[in-house]
Amino acid sequence: MDKEFAVDSDGLHEAVDWMSRDFTASKGLDLPMELPPLGIGSRAALNSLAPSILGGAARLGEPTSFAHMDPPTPWITWAITLWNASLNQNLLHPATSPVARQMEERVVAWLAPWFGMNGGHMTPGSTLANLTALWSARECAGITQVIASEGAHLSIAKAAHLLGLDYRRVPVNASGALDAAQLPANLSHCALVLTAGATSTGAIDPLDLAGRAAWTHVDAAWAGPLRLSKYADLLAGIESADSVAISAHKWLFQPKESALVLFKDTAKAHAAVSFGGTYLATPNVGVLGSHGAAATALLATLLAWGREGVAQRIEHCMDLARGLSEFVAADKRLALYALPQTGIVVWRPEDGRLFDRILNQLPAGSTSTTTVSGVKWLRNVAANPGADIDLLMAAIQGALAERS
Ligand SMILES: *Cc1c(COP(=O)(O)O)cnc(C)c1O
Repeated sequence: MDKEFAVDSDGLHEAVDWMSRDFTASKGLDLPMELPPLGIGSRAALNSLAPSILGGAARLGEPTSFAHMDPPTPWITWAITLWNASLNQNLLHPATSPVARQMEERVVAWLAPWFGMNGGHMTPGSTLANLTALWSARECAGITQVIASEGAHLSIAKAAHLLGLDYRRVPVNASGALDAAQLPANLSHCALVLTAGATSTGAIDPLDLAGRAAWTHVDAAWAGPLRLSKYADLLAGIESADSVAISAHKWLFQPKESALVLFKDTAKAHAAVSFGGTYLATPNVGVLGSHGAAATALLATLLAWGREGVAQRIEHCMDLARGLSEFVAADKRLALYALPQTGIVVWRPEDGRLFDRILNQLPAGSTSTTTVSGVKWLRNVAANPGADIDLLMAAIQGALAERS
């Protein structure tokens, strides 16, 4: 028996111990330039990599982490991910994932009704969820064009390109949402993509447009989980879509790669993107071949927290974003792009010369930048329920107060 394939409790405990160490003096990359002919052993490899993997990582759970859509993850997902890695189930085959496949079905069944959908499957991200949805649209509705706002995620353009579909962009209004007045009257050959929580601005497109085109896809990669919260009505209309994409590795606090593509008529949509193979007992649905059991970590989180536990955390993030936006709005030296709709605060100093100085003074990981209609803005994203906006506001004050 090769011990490398068995449980090494001491080694695994050591790995866990490393996680609570302080890495203030973190080590950079210290690796051989070429593939080592001889191994150093698993324990030595673990100990040698820990300072760079753990110490060199962005700290998404820090109180100052408020820049991106990448949340910290709850510990239960770490434990389940460890199990997943050890079991290596392949959800392609029922034979290599008898229970994990059922768990994916169950977690999809738990979530789909909140979006008015009746099923779907998991993908490693919304990039692939969007591609899968538009692939189904092409097969089921015969669409030849994808139409989306200028604020749509680049994965929509990518999907249209891959699928050989024409791609048309519609201007956005002053708050970053698709301007419905600019839509062509005839959408009978189109997949209309509405974004629920634009990546740059957090804006929600008018979801009452769902159902007007041959196929409506709602890209709810970011803001979809609001459906589980008291803010569900912000996404009213989503239930009239034909498909929905949600990234669970954003506002459902999952490790990457975890996302869902949901359909109104799953049997039809899945049939359109399924391929049978000579060696496959069941058809292969969607873009992926072999893939892992990301569903089990999501299922565990939902079981542990319930809908309310998810809602509380997202609602707290929404409060953080509102607090920051009120601070920006109250300071004459700062401009707010628009009231944050889905936890994304976009702002800048009125004096453009201060832009870089402020950005450089703010704690690392606290603030990102984005360009909307040619104008550069600072951007904060409330993906981390443990963020402390007082720290951020104090840092902004400090940067503004400093004499140039
Ligand atoms: C993040 C995002 C995507 C892409 O999702 P991934 O999970 O990163 O592949 C698509 N659309 C929107 C609106 C997003 O915010």
